[in-house]
Amino acid sequence: MNLLLMGPQGCGKGTQSERISKDFGLVQISTGVLFRQSIENGEKLGLEAQKYMNQGVLVPLDLTVKILAERLKKPDCKNGVILDGFPRSLEQAEALSKILKVDYVILFDTPREECIERLLSRRFCKDCKTNFSTRTYHKDTCDRCGGKLLTRDDDNLEAIKTRLEVYDKTTTPLINFYADRLFKVKAVGAPEEIYSQVKNFLKGKMK
Ligand code: AMP
Repeated sequence: MNLLLMGPQGCGKGTQSERISKDFGLVQISTGVLFRQSIENGEKLGLEAQKYMNQGVLVPLDLTVKILAERLKKPDCKNGVILDGFPRSLEQAEALSKILKVDYVILFDTPREECIERLLSRRFCKDCKTNFSTRTYHKDTCDRCGGKLLTRDDDNLEAIKTRLEVYDKTTTPLINFYADRLFKVKAVGAPEEIYSQVKNFLKGKMK
């Protein structure tokens, strides 16, 4: 089974993807994570993508499809994947339809002010990449591995506004594109409550 997670930045796709991956044995693939790994490794593709990422705009189609297609070729993807952050435009959805069959699309519906607050309070561990929120976590080192907590370069108000505008203009048309396999979740409240809706939906589909 291949899933797509959709929703504005800050809706909690990453957290939900982690839980789905554990329970259903699907591999998590986030194009944002792939780009950040490529930047950390000093690769040409990552450094090219970084210019766009820091401004909060989309990385060009050829680079994005390339990094995703390479990841999808790895053997761990054969039992199914969860795509988080791809596709983000109709042209990406069309490119994806040539390389992967998407079974279901889960759309996380979160109020805009909540997304902005979550992004502004987001920190990540430099070493293990776990996310934390300063709203609930008050240390500056990671609970899991002791790594230093940092703020993402694009989690500043200006880039956040641009990213949300890009989502509204370029990504929301995908809701119609995938209307025949879409499951909409009201993504407010505790992550566990949101996840129980997702889990029930997926269990129903697996029967
Ligand atoms: P994310 O980690 O999903 O918030 O993505 C961070 C940034 O990576 C985005 O603001 C874009 O610049 C870039 N990016 C991630 N996924 C895509 C995509 N599907 N298409 C184009 N750019 C992307």
